[in-house]
Amino acid sequence: MEENSEQNNSLPQPEIKPKIIKLKRCDRCLEEKDIKLFNRQKTSIDKRHPWCKKCQSLDNAVYYAQNRDKRLKYIQNWRAKRKLEKIELEKQIALQNLIAEPAEPEAPKNLDIPASE
Ligand SMILES: [Zn+2]
Repeated sequence: MEENSEQNNSLPQPEIKPKIIKLKRCDRCLEEKDIKLFNRQKTSIDKRHPWCKKCQSLDNAVYYAQNRDKRLKYIQNWRAKRKLEKIELEKQIALQNLIAEPAEPEAPKNLDIPASE
């Protein structure tokens, strides 16, 4: 008689809670969809992007295809910049190590060297 026992979690139970699905119309495809299918956007009034995720990803794909060269150039520039920054950092570290090394006391050693010649 225990039909509602929680052991049968694997089975779909349609009468658990009446889910309130908020709908939103996509500005792109003009379809009404579950609001969860819209990415979050802090700046908009309902905190969701005006386009559904599907339309956004499609648009991104189109943008990427149209601006492929521009993007690749940007990435190349970014990588070159990072490489330079890394070289600069390594230079600074090497310099710091050079400055740090002579700080060891060498004075007592000089006393052992004969002053002749
Ligand atoms: Zn859409």
